[in-house]
Amino acid sequence: MDLRFSKEDEDFRSEFQAWLAINLPQEMRAPEFWRGKSDDEQFQIRRDWEAGKAEAGYCGIQWPTEYGGRGGTPTMKAIYDEELAKANAPRSVNPLGLAFLGPTVMAIGTDEQKRDIIKPLLHTETIWCQGFSEPGAGSDLAALQMKADQRGDDYILNGQKIWTTNAMHGDKIFTLARTSPSEGSRHAGISMLLVDMHQPGVEARPLKQITGESEFGEVFFTDALCPTAEVLGGEGNGWQTAMLLLSFERGSSAIGQYTEFRHQWDLVANLAQQLERDGQKAAKDPVLRQKLAASLVDLECLKYHSWHILTQTSQGKDLGAEASMTKMMWSETFRKVSDTYEAVLGTAFQVPDPQPGLSLEELTTMALWSRSCTIWGGSQQVQRSIVAERVLGLPR
Ligand SMILES: Cc1cc2nc3c(=O)[nH]c(=O)nc-3n(C[C@H](O)[C@H](O)[C@H](O)COP(=O)(O)OP(=O)(O)OC[C@H]3O[C@@H](n4cnc5c(N)ncnc54)[C@H](O)[C@@H]3O)c2cc1C
Repeated sequence: MDLRFSKEDEDFRSEFQAWLAINLPQEMRAPEFWRGKSDDEQFQIRRDWEAGKAEAGYCGIQWPTEYGGRGGTPTMKAIYDEELAKANAPRSVNPLGLAFLGPTVMAIGTDEQKRDIIKPLLHTETIWCQGFSEPGAGSDLAALQMKADQRGDDYILNGQKIWTTNAMHGDKIFTLARTSPSEGSRHAGISMLLVDMHQPGVEARPLKQITGESEFGEVFFTDALCPTAEVLGGEGNGWQTAMLLLSFERGSSAIGQYTEFRHQWDLVANLAQQLERDGQKAAKDPVLRQKLAASLVDLECLKYHSWHILTQTSQGKDLGAEASMTKMMWSETFRKVSDTYEAVLGTAFQVPDPQPGLSLEELTTMALWSRSCTIWGGSQQVQRSIVAERVLGLPR
């Protein structure tokens, strides 16, 4: 593991810090800034801010310059994520496009797809959704049923997707559909289609989350159109394209996550020092102290694991199935930080204003949101099976 930064890396950090100091307004860093704003208003503010950041050259940090990226290193991307987390910057409006679609298009897209997709994605001109999950196909993705029948130069799509992040704000969706019969293998006959969401045959409906937001939703396709040229990776190769696409999340470092969770742990520890419980400060409770300490140890392990991953990816190593270990580690560490918040407040942690006078919105949202992280991107149980079979070589 290499814990040193090159001069180039340090210069990049200083430059980005200076840019953030000027361009990220102080009020936008505070949780209160978002209070009372609708989902639509919040999304638009984040979209505009991210577009400005891209305009200033802070986007696609490790993507090639020919595609509008910055041509940097994995270390620079980790520094970028860390500095955004430290500054409490708004989160990206295009996470699916950035994590999954962009790298896949660069790897296997046609020249037209590279030209038409990557730059608008980086500049938030096109918000991309991922349409994989269906009511009957989640962990078992190959059970998907959406149909795409070819008619002339178009596919006609019919079916439903669910849990679609940014469904209500999406412009386009990369989605999996059956373009031909499966012929004995459930993985055959699937294609990845790039579909315009602004057409009469596509209807997005919000789903209300426990946080009160509707960050995800359902998407219904009723005779929706997709030109046959808008297939990514070739017709019938959807399963291979999807596996390639999902592999791009691998190798991403968890340093930004560590920084964010550590900040939240500090807020919880601080709260425990303020809050009276049973005639003394909560922080005096030995059981709570143990919990806080255990959570801090996990956080520091996550930090060193992130450095290890960064060293590996900087040396060009493909992490393969080991990436599932990182996903399990950061999501469980996050859950533990949220559990310490619950231990301080009790069940009151679930209500919007659990301690009048104390501004706890950030922690409450964190605690509720943390419940989803062991599900999306592959559930914890499925990740464990991947590690058991493909990393440890255990029998099925
Ligand atoms: C916040 C959030 C955002 C999401 N965003 C998107 C998105 O943008 N696009 C998209 O396509 N999907 C999205 N999803 C869906 C996500 O990918 C699925 O929820 C996930 O794949 C699990 O599928 P499922 O919900 O159908 O649960 P199921 O697959 O039905 O699983 C139910 C339970 O059974 C367990 N289980 C299932 N199979 C196995 C097995 N083989 N071995 C052991 N245990 C198993 C699971 O671990 C889980 O505990 C999102 C989900 C969440 C929570």
